[in-house]
Amino acid sequence: MGWLILRDLFHRAGALMCFMVWRSGHLKNRSREKYPETEPVHKEYRGGSDHFTKNSLRTLPPGTCTNRTMVSTECLYSGSPYDSPVRETMTPAKIPIYSSTTGKVESVDPVVKTEAEWRSILPVQTFEVARGKGTEPAFTGAYFNTHDDGIYQCACCGTDLFDSKDKFESGTGWPSFSAPIAKENVKTNEDRSFGMLRVEVLCGRCDAHLGHVFDDGPAPTHMRYCMNSASLNLVKRKTA
Ligand SMILES: [Zn+2]
Repeated sequence: MGWLILRDLFHRAGALMCFMVWRSGHLKNRSREKYPETEPVHKEYRGGSDHFTKNSLRTLPPGTCTNRTMVSTECLYSGSPYDSPVRETMTPAKIPIYSSTTGKVESVDPVVKTEAEWRSILPVQTFEVARGKGTEPAFTGAYFNTHDDGIYQCACCGTDLFDSKDKFESGTGWPSFSAPIAKENVKTNEDRSFGMLRVEVLCGRCDAHLGHVFDDGPAPTHMRYCMNSASLNLVKRKTA
């Protein structure tokens, strides 16, 4: 009698296991049907670290994964509904920046640093103006009365910003230019500080505050890029 009960229990357990195996396969298939495009490319990334090993990094295509963040992005960037937190930590995409040395627009990494990092590498006035959106007093900067030939670069990241050929005498006490060296190399931003509506100009690569742009400049652009000397470095013209 005891043996019969034991055999019955054994059969029931076997049937239950079969059902569970079938059910898990069925659910997996249903989930694939429901979210065919949202399957993570490398599911093993979750909780695992296979893609962070040296060997895996070597096998990735050159230029696509240069650090751990990019590796995780590569692994999960597949439209998965679960990958938004990973996207937020993505390394910023490369940006187009013109180089006066090569004469070409190149694809480069943006320059991103913390406030503490900028403070540790920049002169005090450059930090206050470029990272703190300050303004140097008129007629005090290094370049308001400079007529030397060269390229004015960003004092924070070295990006080419203005050509001395576009510098003109504005009489304002700040170095003034009729145009940036290339539209890619500067950004603009609406500035409503001090009760005024002005257009702020920033470095296109590191977001350094450079000054403001006004539409009362000389022909043909009629623009006046009114810059702070503290945010600029004048360097000799180079060619590749
Ligand atoms: Zn910059």
